[in-house]
Amino acid sequence: MTFETIQHDEQQYMMHAYGRFPTALVSGKGATAVDVNGKTYIDFTSGIGVNSLGYCDDGWTKAVAAQAATLQHISNLYYSPLQTEVAKTLCGLSDMTKVFLCNSGAEANECAIKVARKYSFDKYGQGRQKIITLVNSFHGRTVTTLAATGQEVFHNYFFPFTEGFAYVKANDIEDFRDQLTDDVCAVLIELIQGEGGVMPLEKDFVEEVAALCQKKDVLLMVDEVQTGISRTGHFFCYQGYGLHPDVVTAAKGLGGGLPIGACLCGDKTADVFVPGTHGTTFGGNLIACAAAKEVLSRVAAPAFLQEVCAKGDYIRAKLKAIGNVKEVRGQGMMIGIVTEKDNAKEIAAKCLANGLLILTAKNLLRLLPPLTITYEEIDKGLAILKNTMEA
Ligand SMILES: *Cc1c(COP(=O)(O)O)cnc(C)c1O
Repeated sequence: MTFETIQHDEQQYMMHAYGRFPTALVSGKGATAVDVNGKTYIDFTSGIGVNSLGYCDDGWTKAVAAQAATLQHISNLYYSPLQTEVAKTLCGLSDMTKVFLCNSGAEANECAIKVARKYSFDKYGQGRQKIITLVNSFHGRTVTTLAATGQEVFHNYFFPFTEGFAYVKANDIEDFRDQLTDDVCAVLIELIQGEGGVMPLEKDFVEEVAALCQKKDVLLMVDEVQTGISRTGHFFCYQGYGLHPDVVTAAKGLGGGLPIGACLCGDKTADVFVPGTHGTTFGGNLIACAAAKEVLSRVAAPAFLQEVCAKGDYIRAKLKAIGNVKEVRGQGMMIGIVTEKDNAKEIAAKCLANGLLILTAKNLLRLLPPLTITYEEIDKGLAILKNTMEA
């Protein structure tokens, strides 16, 4: 099949929800993808932070295949030792108390929002349901998580949106104080705004927010859908900020390429849900859990986390010596590049032609390489980026 046929069929049979790069990928190994014409690409995207162990990692493939041949799905009517093991591991790695397993980042955030509202309802009754999020945030594409997303461009067409969100400017503690009214039950934040342009929050701001939340029994909820699962060099980014959130959400990198999300609750919120208050058919799917178990057994080891930091530092240092690079932001292997010429989209398109998969966020280039990328693959990718940027 040719690329043209695939593109034609996509346009004919798939809803046009996505703008796609003009390539059709058919296989991959590590941080190298192969398209339908046999052309190879270095992968600085990991499927938007999903393939934490790269394409078709041996251990991951084996774990997934073995589970598929053993038991693929049982619903949540029955117990599963695999689900409970994944939940226990997540709690151990995060100092959180209990986990709800779902299928995506948006679902994990929906779960967090429901936890926050029910926590407050149970304790204080009605009228304390507002959730503060940040201007420029991204929390998902369902109607409620779009409402939680603090970017006006997303608040369109799909009215009426879910009520009860207020948006505070990142790093503006006065704005936060002003909006922390008595009807607020929770704060939901990304510590490094990903889709918003790889914008890290200032530590002082985050600490003050956490202190105010604690004082007012407002839940501190951290959206780690992009920053979590060792992406920033900590298992969760909040651990580097020294925070103790009440709720944490994760998804993207958790399954290493299979859809699984998690909403982690601390002591305060661990028992908010009772049978009947929340659920999902696919949540905790066993093949996704087998994938997550393999990912968790690998990415949280101290030596692995050190490697993530070292590779991130190495990439950042090299990027700074490339022409057209104005600023490099981010942490670990979550990296944003501001270009002098403000031409990130154009660069990303040219990189593809030159054999490199790279992301954009707002007007930045964004790198989310597989955490297992080798230095050889990094060097190859950076050489393509340099040639493209300096052309
Ligand atoms: C990607 C992302 C989401 C949404 O995750 P989906 O799996 O696409 O629903 C939510 N929050 C953050 C911070 C994200 O990066």
